[in-house]
Amino acid sequence: MSHKIINKITACVPSVKLFENAVLSEYTSFKTGGPADVLARPTTIDEVQALVKLAKSEKIPYYILGNGTNMLVSDEGFRGLIIALKDLNGDIIFSETGEGDTVAVSAYAGCTLARLASEAASKGYAGLEFAAGIPGSVGGAVVMNAGAYGGEIKDILEFADVLDENGEIIRLDNKDLDFSYRHSIIQEKNYIVLSVSFILKPGDEKTIKAEIKELNERRREKQPLEYPSAGSTFKRPEGLFAGKLIEDSGLKGFSVGDAQVSEKHCGFVINKGKATSSDIYELISQVIEKVYDKTSVVLEPEIKLLGFDED
Ligand SMILES: Cc1cc2nc3c(=O)[nH]c(=O)nc-3n(C[C@H](O)[C@H](O)[C@H](O)COP(=O)(O)OP(=O)(O)OC[C@H]3O[C@@H](n4cnc5c(N)ncnc54)[C@H](O)[C@@H]3O)c2cc1C
Repeated sequence: MSHKIINKITACVPSVKLFENAVLSEYTSFKTGGPADVLARPTTIDEVQALVKLAKSEKIPYYILGNGTNMLVSDEGFRGLIIALKDLNGDIIFSETGEGDTVAVSAYAGCTLARLASEAASKGYAGLEFAAGIPGSVGGAVVMNAGAYGGEIKDILEFADVLDENGEIIRLDNKDLDFSYRHSIIQEKNYIVLSVSFILKPGDEKTIKAEIKELNERRREKQPLEYPSAGSTFKRPEGLFAGKLIEDSGLKGFSVGDAQVSEKHCGFVINKGKATSSDIYELISQVIEKVYDKTSVVLEPEIKLLGFDED
């Protein structure tokens, strides 16, 4: 399977970097997940477009990976082509909007939020402070409408350029993206985010950097950042907190193999060292069941599953 895919890609998109039987645990923040037949790391939008066009025409199953910080990939991995966007990560462009003193900041999908927030802060532009500690990519953050400390991607996004279902590049404005809590329309349409423009405001560099530092310290204090995880494993049920429901259900420290409900923050499932994706999956299933038995609340995973039956 992998040779066939590699031969086809090399014929059509010779410039793209390819990896055969790529170990996906190296691409996920849980540090679990089996091999992908082929993993491509495009560096340009043209390469992404050509890869998707080829995969569609040759009926090669494909999946887009950002920074892998909200993913659980099965131990069996993925039969087909993973298109990992972390190298689609060129210059960040700042330009005046002509509207008041705001500035438009444009970044490629593979750029990390940390890099984007740091460059904006160094130029004295405010608005991305909330995002600096979220370990995802710009593309993944738009897909998930990532947010923290009172801010969300939807508050600052101007537009996103995406590949649509026909492989054409289209521009979606903020309102077209149908943002809500940890949701955007990209999740239903299977569009691919290529680049994003955000609107920021001028601020004081020192104040912005101090705010980022403070939020990152709060994270380190409250979250088990010393272990691999995918952040908050479950969505926040309306008006409630997943972590509190899990703790109140007596599940603090509950484990399956090396997968554990963090003792520091019960909303996080962590990999204590040698957890497999099956351990994590089983733990998540048991947590959902036990929390339901105790509280009648149905927890819903926030993380995306790849390679499991329920995909
Ligand atoms: C320690 C830790 C802390 C975290 N804290 C937060 C937090 O405070 N707030 C928060 O919201 N999240 C948080 N997260 C979760 C995660 O960082 C976010 O959901 C982030 O937006 C995911 O981005 P990613 O690039 O890693 O996406 P991935 O995990 O690679 O992908 C997530 C989904 O998006 C899709 N996808 C990724 N990129 C693209 C693209 N360019 N086009 C189309 N589809 C794409 C994938 O197919 C997948 O379905 C945390 C995670 C960790 C590990």
